[in-house]
Amino acid sequence: MIKNNRKSADHFCIICGQWIGNHDTGATPYGKKSYYSIIRAKYCDECRPMIIDQQMNIRLHNLRQRQKYERRELKEKLSLTQEENELLRKRVMQLNALVYGSKD
Ligand SMILES: [Zn+2]
Repeated sequence: MIKNNRKSADHFCIICGQWIGNHDTGATPYGKKSYYSIIRAKYCDECRPMIIDQQMNIRLHNLRQRQKYERRELKEKLSLTQEENELLRKRVMQLNALVYGSKD
């Protein structure tokens, strides 16, 4: 029972499986750490920079995709606005011709 509890207090890197600490004793390969920093840790010191890099790349990729989508949407809106503007301009000309043209 006690042995099982001890075992579950150990934490391992979810990438390489390296032991990264025990939240009961506070022991880690890098010295004593707090209970919370051990239960929060998911990666060892070798894997963490790689994961942060990957997450940064994913965020950048998502940001670029979003910007691309937004640019496309803006371009479409602009095109529709130009089309509407052109139709309204023609309508104004028609109405002008109707109002002023009929006097001639
Ligand atoms: Zn690792």
